[in-house]
Amino acid sequence: MRSTMQDAPLLIRDIVRHGQWMYADKRVFTATPSGMLSATFADVAQRAEKLASALARLGVQRDDRVATLMWNNQTHMEVYLAVPSMGAILHTLNVRLFPEQLAFIINHASDKVIIVDPNLVPLLAGIKEHIPGVEHIIVNGPAGDVPFEVIDYEEFITAEGPGFDWPDLDEKDAAVMCYTSGTTGDPKGVVYSHRSTWLHSMASTSANSIALSDRDRCLLVVPMFHVNAWGAVYTAFMAGTELIMPQMFLQGEPLLNMIMDLRPTLALGVPTIWNDLLRAAGGRSDADLTSLRIILAGGAAVPRFMIEAFRERHGVDVLQGWGMTETSPLVAVSTPPMGVSREHEIDYRVKAGRVMAGVEVRLTNDEGEVLARDGVAVGEFELRGPWITAGYFGAEAPELFRDGWLRTGDIGTLDPHGYMVITDRAKDMIKSGGEWISSVELETTVQGHEGVFEAAVVAIPDDRWQERPLCVVVRTPESDVSAHELREYLSTFVAKWWLPEHWSFVESLPKTSVGKFDKRALRRLFAEGQLQVETL
Ligand code: ADP
Repeated sequence: MRSTMQDAPLLIRDIVRHGQWMYADKRVFTATPSGMLSATFADVAQRAEKLASALARLGVQRDDRVATLMWNNQTHMEVYLAVPSMGAILHTLNVRLFPEQLAFIINHASDKVIIVDPNLVPLLAGIKEHIPGVEHIIVNGPAGDVPFEVIDYEEFITAEGPGFDWPDLDEKDAAVMCYTSGTTGDPKGVVYSHRSTWLHSMASTSANSIALSDRDRCLLVVPMFHVNAWGAVYTAFMAGTELIMPQMFLQGEPLLNMIMDLRPTLALGVPTIWNDLLRAAGGRSDADLTSLRIILAGGAAVPRFMIEAFRERHGVDVLQGWGMTETSPLVAVSTPPMGVSREHEIDYRVKAGRVMAGVEVRLTNDEGEVLARDGVAVGEFELRGPWITAGYFGAEAPELFRDGWLRTGDIGTLDPHGYMVITDRAKDMIKSGGEWISSVELETTVQGHEGVFEAAVVAIPDDRWQERPLCVVVRTPESDVSAHELREYLSTFVAKWWLPEHWSFVESLPKTSVGKFDKRALRRLFAEGQLQVETL
């Protein structure tokens, strides 16, 4: 028997319509060098309509790729709303990629139009001759002197009238594409549909995840080119959540000021950002983060000390989220279960998270056998569900799938209540004497020492043990902590044979284009002899 329920497609245009009407007065704030600007959701949606009219006039059609090379700001949000709703495909470009990688991705995706922020025009100018398929470049402000034709965004949309007749689309049509940041090989394109975006947004409003709602104002530090700012732009418009867009002001001090001035209720970003916020807040006696109901830290393991420090020093709870470009990204959030004491809660917050309804998860071993969900068996996480990718755009990668499940490359355990614990990415694990050492556990633990600002652990070759851990540390400014002291400190937390004997102290750690520790770069620095290593 078939149900009699209606089957209206899940389209992004209806998220736009909903937010435009229901949350017309909600605001988007954008940090600029001359202060904070703001606009209402009604303004943003109307400008999105004008943009759609202008793009249509320019010749943008169904399935055409419209790329952005932009920071988090209001205009970027307008593009997010307009492009998929008119049936074209939004392609968000990572502003921190190397020029060659950027050109590769633009060509691979066949981008036809690029909308760019003024201070990123030089980056685009550098690759202009290598991207012949790009027909139009639209600049969100004064472009300066460039030897090619550009369109001014404001002029482009001003002449258009309000209203746009958003087309009827298939919910499975492509809406947005995003390339992986390429830490595990060539960047690969992941295509999100209208349907996957809807379902992911709904899941993000659920109280079992981050519960975005119209009682929230969200500081969106995660870039809109990093998995669509974790989907938060669409979720915000759907749920009436106000957004604070920091543009390029991503250091601890300006973020602290934004939090104190605009009092967001939640904030999204990778752990390295929150570490910098902790540092900045530590230096100010009037630091006040109490407006935040949660900080969502994801994209990399969140150290226990960070969760404790936010709670004890600032009264703020940190939630951890797990996801990847291939998974839209939210899959799991470390919401503690009911009934655990405040103290015991942290044991849940340090986990990668509990899998949300809609995503199926399993652990497998090297032979592909499914392992027990007992919190003990260690294997690779595999996922499937309506917002998990089933392939890549224009690239074959059968090794990343098994029987319709996405192989994540993340290794860890899954407990009977659905909490994932990540011990490592497969390629970052350290194999010592036939046993595995978790680089994640070593680095998140050593970062708990008060003399350590940041630390990353990578495998280095070893004649006797095959591989051994090398711990690379950035000390806090006033610290002169030694390798001996740090090894001693670690010894109270991890097995003796895990303790690194190789240490290196550096001024800063290399980061990936989305702000995670760049272990590939660290391994290369070591191989090239560019790290001064102390062996105990
Ligand atoms: P990149 O591959 O360049 O890091 P992604 O943002 O897609 O780009 O990264 C996804 C990966 O980030 C996951 O496979 C996982 O290894 C890591 N990750 C994400 N969230 C967490 C988390 N909470 N704990 C540990 N690792 C995480």
